[in-house]
Amino acid sequence: MPAFKGKFDFVIVGGGNAAGYAAKEYVSKGGPKGELLIITSEPYCSYERPTCSKAYMKLEGGARLPKFHTSVGGGGDLQDDQWYPKHGIQFMTNTEVTNIDFKKKQLSLANQPPVEYGKLLLCTGSTVADLKDMGTPGAELENIMYLRNVADADRILGRVKQLKTDGGKAVVIGGGYIGLEMTASLRSNGLDVTVVLPQEHFLSRMLTDEVGEFYESYYKEKGVTIRAKARAVSFEPKSPGCKQVGVAVLDTGEKLQCDLCLVGVGARPNLGLFQGDLDMLDDKPGGVKVDGHMKTSQPDVYAAGDIAAFPLKRSGGSLTRMEHVSHARLSAAVAMAEMLKPGSTHEYDYLPYFYSRIFDLHWEFYGSLEGSTVFFGDKKAKKFGTYWVKDGKVVGVFLEGGSPEEVEAIKSLSLEQPAAPKDLGQEMPRMMMQQPN
Ligand code: NDP
Repeated sequence: MPAFKGKFDFVIVGGGNAAGYAAKEYVSKGGPKGELLIITSEPYCSYERPTCSKAYMKLEGGARLPKFHTSVGGGGDLQDDQWYPKHGIQFMTNTEVTNIDFKKKQLSLANQPPVEYGKLLLCTGSTVADLKDMGTPGAELENIMYLRNVADADRILGRVKQLKTDGGKAVVIGGGYIGLEMTASLRSNGLDVTVVLPQEHFLSRMLTDEVGEFYESYYKEKGVTIRAKARAVSFEPKSPGCKQVGVAVLDTGEKLQCDLCLVGVGARPNLGLFQGDLDMLDDKPGGVKVDGHMKTSQPDVYAAGDIAAFPLKRSGGSLTRMEHVSHARLSAAVAMAEMLKPGSTHEYDYLPYFYSRIFDLHWEFYGSLEGSTVFFGDKKAKKFGTYWVKDGKVVGVFLEGGSPEEVEAIKSLSLEQPAAPKDLGQEMPRMMMQQPN
């Protein structure tokens, strides 16, 4: 590895999973050694972030770095901190990019000399939505925690350990992915957990009432207390003048005792570095507009992952942001391939995919959440799901408890969009795949 030289043909800002998969593509396409620099403010090189809310949360025998560095989740090499220098890539950790001069093609770094780039990939990802920024009274109290990275996960585990010894209650705020997964993880560690969600069920955009009720009953069976149709509106200390949270106050008026409050109320794309310099979506929270090859409005500048608003071909090309690891992986690979050899990539054609693992359950979703819904399968057997049907075609499928072959079948159905038969609800996805079209 040559000494730091201040000018690289390729620079990636942001060292999350997208950067790791871009580096993987760089190596597989024979990118020149010594010409790729990745800069991250995190202390680690890229890792599979989804692990943080799942296997990392086990106090005993949980997944720990370096075991879940990129790209083990995508079935590739373990790209630990040895892997990058081995491939002639410089990964600068603990380093903040403070400014980007797109005219000079130069990055300013905190406490470091500036760096010039030939081509730039922006993968700055998201930050958690913070209740302090929303003006929620008491949100600054200690033991109100958020999860985005390994440092957050370590803080949470530290508190979980204390509560296991001393006893105490956890309250989870939010009914999205973090709420769903962290409620299960905290409860699996033996904590007394109450989850507060504004909607009737978890993940209300995806789970129909019938499916949502299954998860609600399952969580209750596991000993979780659910407060649906409620929001946290303020927090109170354990006692007057104490710095630690003791109570979460809901808009229903209820006060929940808590020793740990885990908040998952959404994420915001990190756009501050290039606001005003790149074409952005007008709607809040915004997003960097890219074309089907992940190219932004500035020459030689690309964007991938959470921040990129890309044309979703399956929705008529409307510019869409996706906060999901599979999009981070795939869009970063497209961007890097295009940076290395302009004109070499097909237009990005992303098939939306979501998944989760909670307690001993797991589900997958592929496709589009448009149209009407049809339930299939058997809740008692823990194998069931939902078809989405639009214009007579199956356009999306959710499946709980699928085998690898069944998950492959729902992916194929969402890609091929076959005509929906009249008795769709009687058909399991693999049977559907065998129907003549
Ligand atoms: P989500 O946007 O998924 O969910 C946020 C939830 O919090 C919504 O139900 C929201 O309701 C609710 N909420 C907002 N304010 C309050 C409040 N005051 N009290 C109670 N509930 C409230 O965000 P998450 O934080 O769950 O996830 C953050 C990011 O992490 C996402 O980008 C997600 O994709 C990613 N992630 C993905 C995983 C996966 O794919 N398996 C796993 C973990 C994280 P409303 O909308 O009504 O405000």
